[in-house]
Amino acid sequence: MAPIGDTATGAASSAAVPAPLTHLTDDERLLRDTVREFAAARIRPHVREMDEHAKIPRELIDQLFELGVMSIEIPDAHGGSGGTFFHAVLVVEELSRVDPSIGVLVDVQNTLVINALLRWGTPEIQARWLPRLAAGTIGAYALSETGSGSDAFALQTRARDDGDAFVISGRKLWITNGNEADLFIVFATVNPDAGHRGITAFLVERGARGFTVGKKEDKLGIRASSTCELIFEDCRVGRAEVLGEVGKGYKVAIETLNEGRIGIGAQMLGLAEGALDHALRYTKERTQFGKTIAEFQGVQFQLARAATDVEAARLLVYNAARLRDARAPFLTEAAMCKIFASEVAERVASLAVNLFGGYGFVKDYPVEKLYRDAKIGQIYEGTSNLQLQTIAKQILT
Ligand SMILES: Cc1cc2nc3c(=O)[nH]c(=O)nc-3n(C[C@H](O)[C@H](O)[C@H](O)COP(=O)(O)OP(=O)(O)OC[C@H]3O[C@@H](n4cnc5c(N)ncnc54)[C@H](O)[C@@H]3O)c2cc1C
Repeated sequence: MAPIGDTATGAASSAAVPAPLTHLTDDERLLRDTVREFAAARIRPHVREMDEHAKIPRELIDQLFELGVMSIEIPDAHGGSGGTFFHAVLVVEELSRVDPSIGVLVDVQNTLVINALLRWGTPEIQARWLPRLAAGTIGAYALSETGSGSDAFALQTRARDDGDAFVISGRKLWITNGNEADLFIVFATVNPDAGHRGITAFLVERGARGFTVGKKEDKLGIRASSTCELIFEDCRVGRAEVLGEVGKGYKVAIETLNEGRIGIGAQMLGLAEGALDHALRYTKERTQFGKTIAEFQGVQFQLARAATDVEAARLLVYNAARLRDARAPFLTEAAMCKIFASEVAERVASLAVNLFGGYGFVKDYPVEKLYRDAKIGQIYEGTSNLQLQTIAKQILT
């Protein structure tokens, strides 16, 4: 075997050493620190109230737009922040550390809606929508229906071809940002007999005739994030509002969700970090048997295991995001990061509740909420079983 480096001095060879995965560039560190400060100052004081009232105040959303985190990958020319996918992941992580509801609002806007428009929008669509999305318009992504969740392409919403327009009829369920959004990416079939090859993505604006936002769900966790039913009754949408090609909406859906689930990994990573932060602080303050509970080795080992879990989740999430930015294959890594980070989030939030004792079980302390919020990571943007299916398909070919 050829020697590696200088065997006489033991020095490393002059070949470039890849940066550690968690090493942040100056830009990335600045962004992370800015969002961290924002979350502590502007979000944390409202977390409990937002959870109780199941609502994000519009003023807070406006501040997110001012911060530039609602338009991360939109190019400067369209009024956005001109960032990368990894930037979006860092932002979602930091916001979710404080409130995973804000995390998912920002995540859907960036990793699903803006991502889909950047990839599939015509120049006209981009010129029309990207400046609006950078300036205050919220987006939503509407695929799921009552009878089609995991089996998303069994959707029943119909788009009838009517010459210069399509006429959409049907209902969508569980749509994040439904209450706040003005732009909805809606998946419907132009030909139910064609299976997934009939599925088409449409841009529908709030206020379009025949389109109403229905019931808002009352949820276990991420309560401040709105989850709504959408109702389409002969809603006419011009042909110019087709995103991608007619009959190729399944590609829009699959490819954006493949990327979007890295964002959910980031949301769950942030949640786990937030829960661990609380646990570390509390165990150093709480005394029992004349010592802080952090002085008990039994507690220390639990915290050490949680910190290891969080670090492993971070590596998976950052790797998937960096692969995506490098245009390298990332499908398996994205599925792995989502399933793992969501399990870590549940585990670490559960440990935090345990370590807070009785205080962990009451709403005056923040950890019971994080425990409730963690559950969604294993459900939306593909349940854990569906992630396992993706991973199994890749490793068995
Ligand atoms: C808070 C919230 C927000 C959401 N936001 C959005 C949104 O913005 N846009 C959107 O389009 N949708 C959204 N969804 C929908 C979400 O993506 C679906 O709920 C999810 O994909 C699961 O679908 P389902 O609920 O129909 O469950 P099902 O598909 O019925 O699954 C039920 C169970 O069966 C298992 N299962 C199903 N098929 C298989 C299989 N082949 N092998 C093994 N196990 C299987 C699943 O893993 C799960 O455990 C949201 C849901 C929630 C709760």
